[in-house]
Amino acid sequence: MRKALFPGSFDPITRGHVEIVLRGRAVFDEIIVAIGINSSKRYLFSLEERLEMLEQVFAHEPQVRVAAFDGLTVNFAREQGAAFLLRGLRSPQDLSYEQPLELINKHMAPELEVVHLLSSPETAMISSTIVREVIRYGGRVEGLIPDEILEYVYELKYQKQP
Ligand code: ADP
Repeated sequence: MRKALFPGSFDPITRGHVEIVLRGRAVFDEIIVAIGINSSKRYLFSLEERLEMLEQVFAHEPQVRVAAFDGLTVNFAREQGAAFLLRGLRSPQDLSYEQPLELINKHMAPELEVVHLLSSPETAMISSTIVREVIRYGGRVEGLIPDEILEYVYELKYQKQP
């Protein structure tokens, strides 16, 4: 049973994340998409809202489970019996950001392997940061976030027209 943990903030989940998870199904039997709780970060969406969005997006994916965790990613991976971390890479900058994190994780949990998938050109320009900016200024997010959560996000974050 090849189990992978796909950790992130998912504030909000984007089409980039979804692509990595769906492609990951060919490699892993089970993927746990998990929100890492970082008390020093400020989020646009609450933990409950982010979990709700993950649940909506992966409701019909039997290989995918959603979760949230406190503390170190490597500890949560061990707890869940996941031997792999799944990460997406959009650019060389993503790799520069990932490398020190992964070296530390490897130091703490040598048994845990990280598998990277390169994002496609269609999603490489999408980041949660950009999506949050678009939402803050009332822009449309079709094509950036999964269709399943468009209505939820518009309901939550956009002013209702009188
Ligand atoms: P954080 O940046 O807090 O770790 P994110 O939720 O932004 O969490 O990202 C989680 C994972 O998804 C990371 O591996 C990140 O590189 C990857 N990722 C984010 N956006 C994309 C995208 N557009 N295409 C592919 N992978 C992505």
